[in-house]
Amino acid sequence: TKDSVKGFLRRNLFVLLTIAAVALGVMLGFTLRPHNLTLREIKYFAFPGELLMRMLQMLVLPLIVSSLVTGISSLDSKASGKMGMRAVGYYMVTTLIAVFIGIVIVIVIKPGKGHRDSPVASSGTIEPVQAADAFLDLIRNMFPPNLVEACFKQYKTVYKKTIHTKNVTVALSLTDSLNATEAALAVNMSRVLQTIQETVVEMIPVSGSSNGVNALGLVVFSMCFGLVIGSMKQQGQALRDFFDCLNEAIMRLVAIIIWYAPVGILFLIAAKIVEMKNLAEVGGQLGMYTVSVIVGLLIHGLFVLPLLYFLVTRKNPYTFMAGLLQALITALGTSSSSATLPITFRCLEENNRVDKRVTRFILPVGATINMDGTALYEAVAAIFIAQVNDMELNFGQILTISITATAASIGAAGIPQAGLVTMVIVLTSVGLPTEDITLIIAVDWFLDRLRTTTNVLGDSIGAGIVEHLSRQELQSQDVEVGNSVIEE
Ligand code: ASP
Repeated sequence: TKDSVKGFLRRNLFVLLTIAAVALGVMLGFTLRPHNLTLREIKYFAFPGELLMRMLQMLVLPLIVSSLVTGISSLDSKASGKMGMRAVGYYMVTTLIAVFIGIVIVIVIKPGKGHRDSPVASSGTIEPVQAADAFLDLIRNMFPPNLVEACFKQYKTVYKKTIHTKNVTVALSLTDSLNATEAALAVNMSRVLQTIQETVVEMIPVSGSSNGVNALGLVVFSMCFGLVIGSMKQQGQALRDFFDCLNEAIMRLVAIIIWYAPVGILFLIAAKIVEMKNLAEVGGQLGMYTVSVIVGLLIHGLFVLPLLYFLVTRKNPYTFMAGLLQALITALGTSSSSATLPITFRCLEENNRVDKRVTRFILPVGATINMDGTALYEAVAAIFIAQVNDMELNFGQILTISITATAASIGAAGIPQAGLVTMVIVLTSVGLPTEDITLIIAVDWFLDRLRTTTNVLGDSIGAGIVEHLSRQELQSQDVEVGNSVIEE
C-alpha cells in the first residue's frame, strides 16, 4: 500500500542519512587533521556530537525504568519467567562463545609473542585491586540502598594506601577515590619508592562510589517492581498505565532526537579522527593485538550471531541486521551501548517489528549485562598481556580467564571504555600485572567502538531470538487480554 511504501522510504532515508553522516565525518576529519587543531579547538568542533551524547543519555534513565516496568508488568509471571530464562540462556551462551572465539584467536595469532615493546617494571606482589572486591561490587550494585543516588552513582570499592618505611608511615590516601586504573598507576609509583627505601605498601579496601548511572541496580529494581505490579491485577492498573504512558512519551522524544542523530554522529566521528594519534605508529605487538580483537569481533558479529539467529528463527539474519544499521552506527559513534539504547529500541520496533513486550523487557537488561564484544576483548587482552610477559597459561588459568571475562563483561557499564576498567578483574584472577593495562590503552578508544557495536548487535539479535522462542506465550497472552493484534 501507499503507506508502507512511504514508511519504507522514510526508514531508508534515515539509514542513508546516517551512512552519509559517517562518510562525511570521515572526510571532514581527515581534511582537518593536517591543520593540527589545538585540544581546545577540537573540543569546540566536537560540540554537536557531544550534544547528541547528552540527549541520548538524558533519555536512558527513564527509558530503562519505564520500559522494564511496563514490559514485565504486562506479562503474567509465568510468561515473563520463561522469557527471562530464555534471555539469560541466550546471554550466557553467546557471551561464552564470544570468549571462546577470542581465546582461540589470540592463541593462534599470538600477538604478544617476542620481547615486549615497552618495558614496564613488574616486580613485587602488591595487588592493587582484588578480583573478590570487584565481584562483591557487582552484587552490591544490584541492590542500591538509595534509588535516587543510583541514578548518578555506583558503588565501587576504593583503596586506601599506606606506605610503611623503616621509620615512618606515610598515608598516601590524599584522594580516597582511586579507580582501578589510577590504583594501578599508584602501585607503579610505589614500586619506585620501594626500590629506594625498604617499604611495605598496603592497600586496604574501603567503601566508595564513582559517578555514573548504576544501571544494574535500576534494572534489578524495575524488574522486581514490574513483577509486583503485574501480580496486583486490578489494583496495579494505575501504575501500569502510568509507566506505559511514560514509556510511550519517552519513545516519542526518541523519535524527535533521531532527526538530529546524523549530525551528531558526523561530528563525533570527525572529531575523533582529528584528535586520534597517528595510527601508523601502532605497529608491532599492539598492532597484532588490535587485529586479533577485530578479527574476533567480526567472526562473532558477522557469522556466529547471524547463524544462531538463522538456526532459531529460520529467517534471514542479514535482513534483520540491515534494520539495525542505524543503531549499529550510533554504537560506533558513541562507544556506549546504553546511550545507543533509545535508537536500538526504535530500530527493533519500527524496522524489524519486534514485539514491544519483548523489546521492553529484553533490551534494557541486554544493554546492561549482555556484552559479547566486551567479553571477547577482555579474554584477548588478558591473554595478550600474558604473552607479553612470557607467561605460559595452563588450562585452568584459561578457564579462569573465560569465567572472569564473562563476569567483567556483565559488570562493565554500557559507557565508553568501561571494559578497560573491569579488565582488572580478569588480570588479577590469574596473577597478571594490572599495570600492564597501560600497554593497551593507546588503541582502546578504537576497539571500544567496535566492541560496543558488537554488544548492541548481540542485544538486538537476542531480542529477535527471544521473541521467536516466546511466540506461544505472547499469543496466548493476546487471547487472554483480548487484543487480536499486538498493540502498536
Ligand atoms: N563501551 C562498551 C559498551 O558500552 C563497554 C566496554 O567498554 O566494553 O558497550
